[in-house]
Amino acid sequence: MSYLSFIGHYKKLRDKVIKSNNINMESISIFEIIKIGIGPSSSHTMGPWRAAVFFLNYLNKYDKLNEVSEIKTSLYGSLAKTGLGHGTDIAVMLGLSNEDFTTIDTNKIAEKIENIKQSGLISISESHTIPFNYDKHIIFEFNKSLDYHPNGIRFNAILKDGTSISREYFSVGGGFVITQDSDQIAKNPIKTKYPCHTEQDILNNCKKLNLKISELVMLNETAWQNEAETRKQALYIWSEIKNCIFRGVNKSGILPGGLKVRRRAYDLNKKLLHGQKFNNVDDWINAIKQGSKNFTTVSKWISVFALAVTEENASFGRIITAPTNGASGVIPAVLMYAYCFTSNFEDEEIVKFIITAGEIGTLYKKGATISAAMGGCQAEIGVSSSMAAGGLTESLGGRKEQVFQAAEIAMEHHLGMTCDPIGGLVQIPCIERNCMGAIKAITASNIALESDSSAARLSLDDVIKVMWETAIDMNAKYKETSEGGLAKIPVNISEC
Ligand code: SF4
Repeated sequence: MSYLSFIGHYKKLRDKVIKSNNINMESISIFEIIKIGIGPSSSHTMGPWRAAVFFLNYLNKYDKLNEVSEIKTSLYGSLAKTGLGHGTDIAVMLGLSNEDFTTIDTNKIAEKIENIKQSGLISISESHTIPFNYDKHIIFEFNKSLDYHPNGIRFNAILKDGTSISREYFSVGGGFVITQDSDQIAKNPIKTKYPCHTEQDILNNCKKLNLKISELVMLNETAWQNEAETRKQALYIWSEIKNCIFRGVNKSGILPGGLKVRRRAYDLNKKLLHGQKFNNVDDWINAIKQGSKNFTTVSKWISVFALAVTEENASFGRIITAPTNGASGVIPAVLMYAYCFTSNFEDEEIVKFIITAGEIGTLYKKGATISAAMGGCQAEIGVSSSMAAGGLTESLGGRKEQVFQAAEIAMEHHLGMTCDPIGGLVQIPCIERNCMGAIKAITASNIALESDSSAARLSLDDVIKVMWETAIDMNAKYKETSEGGLAKIPVNISEC
């Protein structure tokens, strides 16, 4: 492909993705951006998992589910190239078994996969089981891509009468799944009372209604659930964040996948607490709050929080997707930092943080991308850092212009960051990148809180546009294909 036709291809792709991201600029709830997830990848694990469930629902809708004799799944583009490292094959098997990733017991995943492989059977409904042969039924199309999006997946169901039904799905980041015919899966036709698709929309509405950003978001969220329910969901996310970090700091050993990456949250937590052990999360947090608040200690704690979540993510643990799984450590680390090391940071501030961060995430989803296969790591760690910076600034009492300035600064210093996971595993550089994203978010917030934001030369809208243009220009080998950057360094990968 010539350079010019390559650019033309990406421009067309961008237009299609923008269209698929926000048909008629639909409103997106903040709980679609920050939500319960499962590791290690939102686009390569959760997306294909949901796609498999959607395919079963599609067959069921046309009364064909019980007619199926076998299902072949083909993975294309980035899903093929980094699918093994991201557990895409496992996700497909569990999706075809009708499992729900928000409720599955993550400790039983390995056993379930082993059962499918050993028995050679997969139950696609309560009453229908079909043969399943891993080598035959999951096909990694390493050298092929579907035209529509780099994360393509095709299911082909062969029916008992010899006919077949095929359907293609595209995992477009953050666990969102669409089909090419713009028949958006999980389509949400809801429009908020005060639609906000850009920073400028939010500023205009805030000014008109005399509201803070989090108050406007709370009002718009009533399109999906009432205010009490929004608070409840935000606080549920907070409790899951705390539990996830606590699980992470209490697990030691080597992460799965063969890179032999050692869990570090456990060791660092133990060192910072001088070996003290805690049986519940609240006692553990109290111990952190009562400890040293010098810069080095606080900075180490921020790393512990981010490491704990991302190590859970790397081992198929339950995490909070925000906006993706690769970047799932940033928002928890910044939120836990605020809870432990700033004053008067209680439920009210936590809710403000989460809903403001979520709203900023929707701007990226609508104006650019939250998919590393489309935009590299700037679309994951960059977006999560920007979300966290804005959320922190709002919850610490910043003015709306300062909130957007913080979000802009955080993204500004992630622009161009490539996605190059070694071995296709969400471990190196991903885990440490979450620590860096968290620190940048806090620094961005501190700068904005001390700045006259009317003097800022760039807006969040500017930087979202530039991020998208950078995504288009970025060479495909840096977009979650493991064909460039750090992923090219030869590293021995072997399961023990
Ligand atoms: S390098 Fe960044 S975008 Fe790529 S998988 Fe890792 S965290 Fe995600």
